[in-house]
Amino acid sequence: MKKNDVILGGGILIAALLLFLVMHLTRGEEGNQIQITVDGNVYGTYSLAKDQVIEVKEKDFYNCIRIQDGKAYMEEANCPDGYCEEQGKISGRTQTIVCLPHKLVVEVLDAEGLENDSASEQLPDTISK
Ligand SMILES: [Zn+2]
Repeated sequence: MKKNDVILGGGILIAALLLFLVMHLTRGEEGNQIQITVDGNVYGTYSLAKDQVIEVKEKDFYNCIRIQDGKAYMEEANCPDGYCEEQGKISGRTQTIVCLPHKLVVEVLDAEGLENDSASEQLPDTISK
């Protein structure tokens, strides 16, 4: 029955591919938002369509996230490693910027995901490694 296994596997692959495509196509480019989480708590959500600067100050921590041209990046941070500043610009779904010392996560949400939280929770966690 190995032939059936191959067919089943291929079917799952195609289904996954279709799901990915549908999610990709339905993603509203202008509807994307970023969500900032500090220590597991949602700090706020911000539209990528609007250029803005978000300053996060928690105790001694300071992170400055800038949104420009539909992309978000860590402009400034006072964490010891500075790694978050090197993670570049994010604009697409599942992209994240993580500042480990500050337990701060910037992740891209999309309009669809906001309306259907259960779907986004099923996505693999790209933060923990
Ligand atoms: Zn950092």
